[in-house]
Amino acid sequence: MTAYDYDLFVIGGGSGGVRAGRVAASLGKKVGIAEEYRFGGTCVIRGCVPKKLFVYASQYHEHFEDAAGFGWTVGTSTFDWKALIAAKDKEIARLEGLYRRGLENNGAEIIDSRAEMVDAHTVRLTKTGKTVTADKIVIATGGVANPHAALPGHELCITSNEAFHLEELPKSILIAGGGYIAVEFANIFHGLGVDTTLIYRGKEILSRFDHDMRQGLHKAMVEKGIKIILTDVIEHVAKAPAGGLTAKTKCGETITVDTIMLALGRDPNTHGLGLDAAGVAMDERGAIIVDEYSRTNVENIYALGDVTDRVQLTPVAIHEAMCFIQTVYKDNPTSPDYDLIPTAVFSQPEIGTVGLAEEEAAKRHAELEVYRAEFRPMRATLSGRSERMIMKLIVDAESRKVVGAHILGHEAGEMAQIIGICLKAGATKDDFDRTMALHPSAAEELVTMYSPSYRVKNGERV
Ligand SMILES: Cc1cc2nc3c(=O)[nH]c(=O)nc-3n(C[C@H](O)[C@H](O)[C@H](O)COP(=O)(O)OP(=O)(O)OC[C@H]3O[C@@H](n4cnc5c(N)ncnc54)[C@H](O)[C@@H]3O)c2cc1C
Repeated sequence: MTAYDYDLFVIGGGSGGVRAGRVAASLGKKVGIAEEYRFGGTCVIRGCVPKKLFVYASQYHEHFEDAAGFGWTVGTSTFDWKALIAAKDKEIARLEGLYRRGLENNGAEIIDSRAEMVDAHTVRLTKTGKTVTADKIVIATGGVANPHAALPGHELCITSNEAFHLEELPKSILIAGGGYIAVEFANIFHGLGVDTTLIYRGKEILSRFDHDMRQGLHKAMVEKGIKIILTDVIEHVAKAPAGGLTAKTKCGETITVDTIMLALGRDPNTHGLGLDAAGVAMDERGAIIVDEYSRTNVENIYALGDVTDRVQLTPVAIHEAMCFIQTVYKDNPTSPDYDLIPTAVFSQPEIGTVGLAEEEAAKRHAELEVYRAEFRPMRATLSGRSERMIMKLIVDAESRKVVGAHILGHEAGEMAQIIGICLKAGATKDDFDRTMALHPSAAEELVTMYSPSYRVKNGERV
């Protein structure tokens, strides 16, 4: 019989917290889980899921246009933003219900309240002021959009949170940022008919992605009509006299739009969490410092997911939670594996990627073979769309292992998931070569690139 109210108390009902709480409860542990907003967390409520629904919505106008090339006559089409929001909200409510039921069915106690640490074993539930104790505590409070508080007029701008609940679809939008969230929303808004401008301080969007993906997507976005401003930042935002907002940029541009969205990264959500009282150490960004088993410097307190600022992705938070379960409740110390994480940018065209970008691979391997194909996919022929697809395999010349695979084009994310299995299994280029092509498909290009497009030796392209 434990001396505490709970065996495990989880703070935060998002991807990582729910998984840790649900599985621990299924093992017979007494679990309490507190969520201050809505169960499901960022991913379900205001991240991956509603975003992907928006992505689908934003693709229809191209589908309607493309249909003509295949003999279809599509009548006048109109778009109803409010209908999309209502349908999206209904689906999110359904998913939230599933998350709650999953916890309840396994015997976890759901607590709809903010929770804050009082000491290493005590948590205060702010809704009632009640304190509860637990043997182990998992902090999975996620991240928050960087509000860019230093920007004059930042309070007039929105972040991705508000983008999911705008009363009206703006006619024009300026999005600040060059990460995947900024790029995805630029494509979403543009696809829904919004005059869209992206502004980013870097030399090219999507740093850390392979340069062919970055440049290929940039070109495609501009061809669609999205304006992209690079090496510039917004310095000031004010209300425009005729309505909307005016942004002044460092390079002297004045841009007037209906809405400005800041997508400038996400900060660990630790503010006011009482971590000092519990003695939990954080880094200079406020991220909880953990060891290879997600344990903080306080022996009974663990942290996982975005709040630890490792890799900010839903499957990673879930994986960290499963490793926590193995380590703490199954006597099987397991540290998360961050190697070869497949990722996608749900832009239009999409990017799907796994493994090393060419630049990174060149730093790690003395010689690379780079296989690169750029072509017009079959689906773009009759439609007449000037869409290009890029596929790229990066091969370590010595071991012949494929160390990176990068795809720009339709369903690239779906392909990256499967290639992830191959790379994880240690597939070599020869394995790709002896795999039969699936014809006719775009993906067959991945197994039919027989000779290298070029080599990279000691970091130099030859
Ligand atoms: C717009 C957007 C799009 C994204 N798209 C993708 C994508 O396509 N693919 C992908 O893999 N990832 C995506 N992500 C990232 C993904 O959502 C996160 O990596 C993931 O949700 C992290 O899970 P988590 O459990 O760490 O935190 P979260 O899911 O953020 O959950 C934390 C929860 O804790 C709650 N909370 C915070 N403080 C307290 C407290 N003191 N007491 C009680 N509750 C508290 C919060 O309300 C929240 O529900 C996206 C994120 C955003 C913002």
